[in-house]
Amino acid sequence: VESKSFYISRSDYFFLFLHNRINALAKIRRARPGQRFINALLIVDVQYDFIDGSLALKNCPSQHQGEQVIPVINRLLTDIQFDVVAYTQDWHPSDHISFYGNLHLRSHLLADDSKPADELKLFDTAVFLLDDKKSMKKERVEQILWPAHCVQQSHGAELHRDLMIVKPTRKRKVINLLKGFDKDIDSYSAFWDNQKVRETLLNSKLKEYNVTQVFIVGLATDVCVFSTAMHSVENGYSTFIVEDGCRGVDETNIGLRLDELINSDCAIIQSTDVKDLI
Ligand SMILES: [Zn+2]
Repeated sequence: VESKSFYISRSDYFFLFLHNRINALAKIRRARPGQRFINALLIVDVQYDFIDGSLALKNCPSQHQGEQVIPVINRLLTDIQFDVVAYTQDWHPSDHISFYGNLHLRSHLLADDSKPADELKLFDTAVFLLDDKKSMKKERVEQILWPAHCVQQSHGAELHRDLMIVKPTRKRKVINLLKGFDKDIDSYSAFWDNQKVRETLLNSKLKEYNVTQVFIVGLATDVCVFSTAMHSVENGYSTFIVEDGCRGVDETNIGLRLDELINSDCAIIQSTDVKDLI
């Protein structure tokens, strides 16, 4: 008798995948019964440099077209009355640690187990030992070396002109948030820098406005959107990634990161699902 194979077909996998997503959704929705939801839309880093500039996603392994998120986001802003809308911008000084071209500024700070400076390439991860300003100890900082991008005041750091910028009204708060301005600490998340040294104002604002649900769109799915979503869950918000409103750097990483988010009770949804959730 032939033993039954444990091979999972593509369609089974898709079903499991869908099943997991719906379970995650049910779980986080159950968490707050009988309550009016206060909804925030976080629009992450819809900036020229990630669309057609120095770190354009179309030149990354995913070859995604970052501008495709814009009509999706604009439609959400038009169709849905969010209580809070937040726009974030990556906002780096020109000597920022994340720029490959700045490696020479900190090559003397590379850890012993880091790839040496002359072997590090663009998109590699360097390991630096930096002084921790609080504890006075050396802090291990793993840093992907990106092309220079989103330099403060540059065109590349501006929000794309086609992105709808809504104004605050009596019913709607608007938050503008800059991140990554410390030259020695990168900041993927809109809530915290990568070393969790400094918290942004985002969480205190969302708490002040009594937000219960956070919907996240923007760039890039596997980097800043992912980190922002993880911290959103951690801060107790029912958190939704609007998948068709996001584009990412690398397909494999996007898949891994979305699975990680699902396991953390973040729901992955499509923009057409939003109106039924608010
Ligand atoms: Zn950056």
